[in-house]
Order: sequence, then C-alpha cells, then structure tokens
Amino acid sequence: MSQGIETPTGKSAFVFSEDFTRYKFAEDHPFNPKRLVMTLELIKQLGLLEEQHLFQPAPATDEDLLRVHDSRYLDAVKRASLPTADPDHFAAWGLGTEDTPIFPGMHDASSLICGGTKLAAELVMSGQYQHALNMAGGLHHAHRAQASGFCVYNDIAVAIAHVREKYDARVVYIDTDAHHGDGVQWLFYEDPNVLTISFHETGKYLYPGTGELTERGEGRGYGYSLNVPLEAFTEDDSWMQAVRDVLVPVLNAFQPDLILHQNGCDAHRFDPLTHLAATTRIYRDMPKLTHQLAHELCEGRWVGVGGGGYDIWRVVPRAWTMLWAEILDAELPEKVPTDWLERWQVQAPFELPTTFLDPVDLFAPIPRRTEITEKNEITVRRALNGTPFLF
Ligand SMILES: [Zn+2]
Ligand SMILES: [Zn+2]
Repeated sequence: MSQGIETPTGKSAFVFSEDFTRYKFAEDHPFNPKRLVMTLELIKQLGLLEEQHLFQPAPATDEDLLRVHDSRYLDAVKRASLPTADPDHFAAWGLGTEDTPIFPGMHDASSLICGGTKLAAELVMSGQYQHALNMAGGLHHAHRAQASGFCVYNDIAVAIAHVREKYDARVVYIDTDAHHGDGVQWLFYEDPNVLTISFHETGKYLYPGTGELTERGEGRGYGYSLNVPLEAFTEDDSWMQAVRDVLVPVLNAFQPDLILHQNGCDAHRFDPLTHLAATTRIYRDMPKLTHQLAHELCEGRWVGVGGGGYDIWRVVPRAWTMLWAEILDAELPEKVPTDWLERWQVQAPFELPTTFLDPVDLFAPIPRRTEITEKNEITVRRALNGTPFLF
C-alpha cells in the first residue's frame, strides 16, 4: 500500500493517544471520537504513519489550563467529572446542557487533548519538528469560564498561551471550521501578538451566532481579530478564493512565528449541522496553502488541529488523511484503500466514497452561485479594509 509514498523523517509529528477517544459525551451525540479511530486506520493503511512520527501527550497541567481558564471553572469541571455528579448543578458553567453534557472522567479527557495540542506546538516551536498534528484538538468554542458547543477546555488557547509565555512568539490562528472560532477569538481579543482569523458560515442561522466583520479586537489588540462570515451554500471555489485572498496578504503583513490552523471539516455539503456546500477539494487545498505560507514566512512552523466534522463516515477520515498527507509531504493515491472501505462499510449508514476527492459532478451546482460568490467577495473586501496593521 505504501509503494511510491515518500515519508521524510524528522519533519512531521503526529500526536496521538488511545485515550483521546475518552472525550465522548454520549453514544448518540454528534461529536463522536470514532472519527479519530477511522481516520487513524486510514492513515495507517496508506503506510503514512511510522513510529518516528508518533508522540504520546501527557495531560495539560492545572498551570497550563489556568493560563486561559478560570480556576473556579476548573473546579467545576473536576466536580462534574465524578460519576456521582448531578448535571443540573453545572448549568452556570455551560455544562450538563444538551450540547455539552457532563460525563465521568471529563476533566482528564479534556486536559489530555489540551496536552496534545500543547505538545504539538512545543515540538514545532522547539525546532525538533517542522510541522505537527493533533487531530483530536480544535475545541475552539470553550471560553474562559464556560463550556460551549461540545468544547470543555480550549486546547488551542492553552497551546497558544504556552508558546506566548515560553517563546514570546507571534502566533497566527487560522480557523476554517464552519462555525466561528469564538472561544479562541475572545481569549486573545486584546492581544496584538495573536492574530485570529476565522472563516465560517455567517452566524445569521448558525451557532454560535458571532464572527461578524465588526469583531476586530479591542485595545492594543484592535485589528488582530479577523472574521470572514461567508454565505450559506458557499461552494469550493468561492470558499477557497476567500481563504486565499485573506490569508496571503494578511499573513505576509503580520509575519507570524507560528501558524496554528484549526481544520474542522464541517463545511462539507454532507455535514448534518451546517449549511455550506463544499467538497473534500477544500480539505486538500487549504492545508496546501497553509503549508506553503508556513515555509515562506516562518521556517515551516505549522501546527494543525482537528475540530468539527459530523459526517464521520463520508467526510472526516478523508479530510484529515489529506491533512496529514500534506503535513508529511506525501502523495495520496486517488482511491481510498479497499480494505479500509470493506472494514467500515458494514457499519456505515451511507455508501462510503471511494476517492479522496469528491467527483466533480457529485452535487448539482447551487442555483444562487453567482450571487453567493459576489456577496462573499464583498465580505472579503470589507474584512481586509478593517485591518489597520495592513493598510
Ligand atoms: Zn513542509
Ligand atoms: Zn464546527
């Protein structure tokens, strides 16, 4: 299976723990860690993972977590993690809700994911590895003292706060999940050394409702929060145009020391929770762009995390395998390996796609394509016009 696939050494780290799958709310909850298992198997089947790439994280310590979270919130999460905890006692902390139920071991599972993203950032910032991936990370909705949208602790913010403290690094955070990266944005809203850029479906009809053009940062951080709220039913070309037209000039102007990219893959047309209309093509093209910018601007320092992605059968495994292949600089075959398809098709409620890229004629074009594209172009122009450090 691995014939013809080049796997350079010492360049790319894959952070993983079997215990990542303990971050699980309930059997019927849309945030399902089975997607990690399926993706890992696909990556292994392709011969893209060797011992030298693998790193096991330790859980983030309280000290790590307290850089971005409130100590009373940490206490609440720990109490909510006991098997005897009553979900009704934690509503003030955003816990025990329909979106973010409590579960035994929640604190341990959440801090392990934070430890994973922190380790990925550390491996890259210390110069040991150029790129690193923690596909269990990406919990961008967690706030300082509140869980939200399936996110308990904010692993991204924990990693950024760590590299800010230890390396005084200027960090650009790119969020291409279909939902606004609100938690990370608010946690660094006043920090001019952390530029947050979020591309998402407009909050008009989608959780969390924020991510408007007018959210640009505050105080010294003014201009260092950038939002690109795109129209519902946005397809590949318009999405990629927005991403490219913003990232290339803005990253060149900002000159980051580290790029941290959240790769939620819920902008796909199959995703049950959002209203965008992308195909897997954007999950090949976005990491390629980030990769190129990382080498051009910051000696390759690039950390990838996962995020949303609720079609765990037809979208997530392909999207994040393409992400890891890009991080590894490896070519993927056109087709998904038959062994993997046979293994998972028996469980899947849908027919599994057999190619990494969706066929071009898989979906009929959206009828309002021209209008949507034009609206998105205007949004991009407005987003760029309000970036004081650029203009
Ligand atoms: Zn590279
Ligand atoms: Zn999302």
